[in-house]
Amino acid sequence: MNSTITVAKGDGIGPEITDAVLRILDAAQCGLSYDFIEVGEKVYLSGNSSGIPAEAWATLRRNPVFLKGPITTPQGSGYKSLNVTIRKTLGLFANVRPCRSYHPFVRTMHPDMDVVVVRENEEDLYAGIEHRQTTDVFQCLKVVSLPGTEKIIRYAFEYARANGRSKVTCLVKDNIMKVTDGMFADMFRRVGKEYPTIAQETQIIDIGTARVATQPNRYDVIVTLNLYGDIISDVTAELTGSVGMAGSANIGDRISMFEAIHGSAPDIAGKGLANPSAMLNAACMMLVHMGMPAKAELIQNAWLATLEDGLHTGDVFQEGLSKRRVGTVEFADAVVERLGRKPTRLKSVEMKSGTDLKFAYRRPVVKRELCGVDFFVCDAETTADALAARLDRATDGVIKLKLITNRGVKVWPEGFPETFCTDHWRCRFVGPTVDVNDARATYTPIEPTRIVEALRLVGEAGIEVVKTENLYLFDGVRGFSLGQGE
Ligand code: NAD
Repeated sequence: MNSTITVAKGDGIGPEITDAVLRILDAAQCGLSYDFIEVGEKVYLSGNSSGIPAEAWATLRRNPVFLKGPITTPQGSGYKSLNVTIRKTLGLFANVRPCRSYHPFVRTMHPDMDVVVVRENEEDLYAGIEHRQTTDVFQCLKVVSLPGTEKIIRYAFEYARANGRSKVTCLVKDNIMKVTDGMFADMFRRVGKEYPTIAQETQIIDIGTARVATQPNRYDVIVTLNLYGDIISDVTAELTGSVGMAGSANIGDRISMFEAIHGSAPDIAGKGLANPSAMLNAACMMLVHMGMPAKAELIQNAWLATLEDGLHTGDVFQEGLSKRRVGTVEFADAVVERLGRKPTRLKSVEMKSGTDLKFAYRRPVVKRELCGVDFFVCDAETTADALAARLDRATDGVIKLKLITNRGVKVWPEGFPETFCTDHWRCRFVGPTVDVNDARATYTPIEPTRIVEALRLVGEAGIEVVKTENLYLFDGVRGFSLGQGE
């Protein structure tokens, strides 16, 4: 791998901790050279809302690895998250965050914890597709793809195998989101069969989060969707006792980014007090990724020995346990002095080679058949019964109204008066020959022209459709959820 890496020192404490980390990398003779780029606050304030100038992209795309200091996002609504921009633009699909306790040197309620969260990084509710559709209703689309899901799950298993991890836990909410999270859980079971030596379990995200928070040592590698992973990885980092310790990797096919999980800490910036450990740990993940596990091990063990010797920055300093409160530079010097040493009380690390994911997505051959449509109607004045009567009249003989839901709950036929209704009605239509009064009647294929015709007729009847969603069968299996009560 090319040994030139892109480096952004970032804002706040960024330059201090980056200098400290580069000094340790150089002292360990990693043989790296650095292409520095400027991203973050200065770039934002110069009027660039993405925080990254055009020339920095060229450097980022030239080198396979990016070591990024924390950046300050200025207050105000016009600024886009630099991290989200970089992750999506460069296809950094996996966010990997190891969270380990360093008891007793860092105070924690969970001395044995050693968890790695592998979070899907590009999809889910972070696709950023949001709409206000009516006065009452706002919507955010949860986009989960087969290739995105297969890739992150394979990555989690490959990571577990490469790093000698024994279990992978999948966290989902498939009891509620049966189509999206259900697919994620199915994929986990399917891909998991290829890794029979690794223990596997699936948990619902709510109880899973509660258990991670109370019994983190029951977990080893966790794989989950973007939003759940965002939350759970902060929970795990916090449980270790200090956010100043954890690094994270954003892995892509061609380019990967490594950074501390904490921010730019403006309260201590420029004072020489910051703990460079999180960024150092991120740099060690980077070395493993670049095929230099021995260098990563050398540095990690020296770092653990430094912690054991009681040389602690202010954020982890403990009266009675720590020997000396040190600043950023002194801490880095202490790590350099200990290169070649191993810790005696903390478990020393043995780094394996990087995770080698050979992912080639093969789109399955599936028979896809249109079998209905949901029209989303905006009407603040109507009732479900009145709307159903108007829709029935308008679409007679073309398609047939099966049900109406409001916020997902059936309100027609036979809705309850207690159900609160907004101005946003989901009206589900099926083919004209389906007996909608027969609960056992199945969805059957219809011609697309019926939907276009029905939309025209509904519009002519003065009913406002704000969105349509086609309903499909995939190899005869419903590709959509039923309405609650359908
Ligand atoms: P923060 O992580 O910067 O700071 C939270 C607290 O932790 C502060 O008290 C800080 O002093 C302390 N802290 C953080 N890192 C430390 C370290 N290495 N050593 C010692 N103490 C440390 O979070 P914040 O204050 O909410 O955010 C500050 C800025 O950072 C904001 O502009 C935010 O947008 C940005 N931020 C950037 C990233 C990133 O670049 N990946 C991540 C989070 C926040």
